[in-house]
Order: sequence, then structure tokens, then C-alpha cells
Amino acid sequence: MRAGGNRRRIYVSRYDIAVLPGDGIGPEITEEAVRVLNAATATVGVDLQYERLESGAGRWRKTGVVMTDAEYASCEKADAILMGALGYLDALRPDGTEVQGEVGFRLRFGLDLYAGIRPVHSFQGAPSPLVNGAGIDYVVVRENVEGLFASRDGGTNVRDEVATDTMVVTRVGTEKIVRAAFELALKRASGRPGQQPHVTCIDKANVLSSYAFFRKIFDETARDYPQVTTDHVYVDAMTYYQVRQPQSFDVVVAENFIGDIISDLSAGTVGGLGLAPSGDIGDHHAMFQSAHGSAPDIAGQNVANPIAEILSGAMMLRWLGERHEDRDALKAAEFIDTAVAETLASGDARTRDLGGSVGTRQAGQAIASRVEKLGR
Ligand code: NAD
Repeated sequence: MRAGGNRRRIYVSRYDIAVLPGDGIGPEITEEAVRVLNAATATVGVDLQYERLESGAGRWRKTGVVMTDAEYASCEKADAILMGALGYLDALRPDGTEVQGEVGFRLRFGLDLYAGIRPVHSFQGAPSPLVNGAGIDYVVVRENVEGLFASRDGGTNVRDEVATDTMVVTRVGTEKIVRAAFELALKRASGRPGQQPHVTCIDKANVLSSYAFFRKIFDETARDYPQVTTDHVYVDAMTYYQVRQPQSFDVVVAENFIGDIISDLSAGTVGGLGLAPSGDIGDHHAMFQSAHGSAPDIAGQNVANPIAEILSGAMMLRWLGERHEDRDALKAAEFIDTAVAETLASGDARTRDLGGSVGTRQAGQAIASRVEKLGR
């Protein structure tokens, strides 16, 4: 961050943002997120400088390279990373996995973005498929750099007859993610008088020793947080509770693969992937992206819901604000969250996935103008 300014407005703070629009609907939703970020930061005098990077499966198709070292270095140098979505189902490596991992996983693992933070929040105006879908408000904390996905380049395939992947659960990695979950529960409760902070450990400890180890570290770490209540839920039961009583959760923490799956399910309960933001956060770097993929089935049609990406932009501003004690960035994040909630409630951002007919661009414009009104 640097102090900066221009002739029209004195900027209090400036951040360099590496933007990776990516593939499929990625560029469309990123454009709307940037539109809204610009509207919000202009009202408070925060200056975001974007560097757009071409990494992705689309570029790999043209050049054989998914992400250059220079692009990786730009991400490493940036104050934060905003990613759209990556991947095409047919852009494959020889072992059958997708090339897009060379961007997302490279950044997650390389920059140690160990905490996948995925808020789950029901909005007025966004229909839940659940009869009891109102008032859902919890956060999935996904371990991001260990678990089953740590095998992503290390699995074996013997004679095309036997394939294996290995689950990696370490004491240090588990303790880090569990602490992140407890700290988040305390932070959430501090802004909500009367709320008891609570963390749920999701695993399959009844069957796999790696998950039993994860649970053991969870319990050991919990002793440092006596003010936070805890419980454990097996992942199969978790998917049931997510549908039957989703209001019962506050913060849930899980190994990488489990976290990946339960966060898509949670998105489905609050109206869809188009409303699911995420942050991949480490101690020194962070990347923000919608939790969904590149949705090639709807790309280029102006029908994708940009809200997950817009909310991810708000998460980015909040992370920058907390990290740099920048009240203006925090205020801008608040404007975006409020504008999204109000615009969904009014129907002005009801895209096709939410049962409406508002286009991607129009939804972004509606949210941006509401942000501007809030900032006046
Ligand atoms: P997907 O999340 O892209 O799509 C699943 C379904 O949700 C599709 O029907 C899609 O149309 C819909 N959808 C997703 N985002 C939406 C939005 N904003 N608005 C409206 N509808 C939306 O999952 P997929 O089809 O399994 O994967 C497509 C590609 O995305 C694959 O290449 C996959 O590897 C990749 N992927 C990337 C990421 C990432 O970039 N972090 C995450 C998951 C999947």
C-alpha cells in the first residue's frame, strides 16, 4: 500500500490488485466486480490499481502455457489477488486432470493461502430451494493446501491400471486452519451481541485415521479457546444437516476435499453458486474469487450471476482494510455488502439463476449505482 493522489480526489490509500479474469464466465463477472469495487472505493477515496493477467485454460489452448512465471510474480507482489474463474472441462493434462490447477493451486500452494473462507448467507430476494431456507448464516473454513488435494501432482498411475492419491494431514497445517476458524468465530460474535461463538469440526474420523488426527488437533487447539463452544459432525451427516437445519451452524472447519464439497452444497441452499464468494487467505497474501467454476455452459450470454464475484471483491476490501487498519476500505466493503443485499431484495439483480431475467452487466450496474447512492 502506498499513499497516493490525483487531481480530482485525494486518495488516502492505494492498493495494487492482480486481476485474473480467467475462463468462461470469469471475464464477465470480473468486469462487474471491478465496476462495483471502483464505485465503492471512489466514495471513500481508496485507489485500486489493477494489473490484468491472462492466465487460464484459454491462454493454454493458444500458447500451451497456463500461467507464466512473470504472472505468478505479479500475483506475489500485489497487495491482493482478484480471480474470476478458471478452467475448461476439455483443457486437460495427459493424466486427465485439468490444466487450470496450474493457476489456482499454484497460487494457493505457492503463497500458502491455507484458509479457504466461504461465507454462506441467505438473502431476501434470493430464493432458497429449502422450505426452511431463511436466516442461514455460517462460514465454511476449508483447509486449502493439505488434505486430499495436496496429492494433486503426486498421485500415482501404474500401467493405467492402478491410480492412487494420498491424504496429507499435518499437525502444523491443521492447527493453523483450526485457529483461523476459532478466531473467525470470535470475530463474528464480537460484532453480534449475545451470539455464542461456535465451531464445528467436520470429518470422517470414524473411518479414516487422517481425519481422526484432524479431529484430535481440533480438540487440542479448542482448549486455547474456552469461550468458544464446539462440536463434531461426520461429513455424511453434515450434508444432511446442511439441508435440514442449516441455521444451526456458525463456523465449520474441514479438510480440503470435504470443505470443497460442503461449500458447494451450502451455496445451493442459499440460492446457488452465483451467490457464493470466497477468500483464499494466508498470513501474507490473499486471493478472492467466487466459489464456483467458469460455467462454460452459460459463458458469453450475459446471464451469469456476478454477485459471488462482487461479494468476493468486498471480502478483499475487508481483508485489506483489516490488514492495513484502513477504515475507508472497510467502509467501502460495507457499502458493497449493503448494496448487494438491497439490490437482491428489490429484484434489480435477480439474474436467471435466481429466477429473474436481469443480465450480468445490468446486475453489476444496479449494484454499482446503489453503492454510489450509499456513498453520497
Ligand atoms: P461450475 O461451478 O462452473 O458450474 C456448475 C453449475 O453452476 C453450472 O450449471 C453453471 O452454469 C452454474 N453456475 C456457476 N456459476 C454461476 C454463476 N455465477 N451464475 C449462474 N450460474 C452459475 O462447475 P463445473 O461446470 O463443474 O466446472 C466448469 C469449469 O470450472 C471446470 O473447468 C472446472 O474445473 C472449473 N472450476 C474452476 C474453479 C475455480 O476457478 N476456482 C472452481 C470450480 C470449478
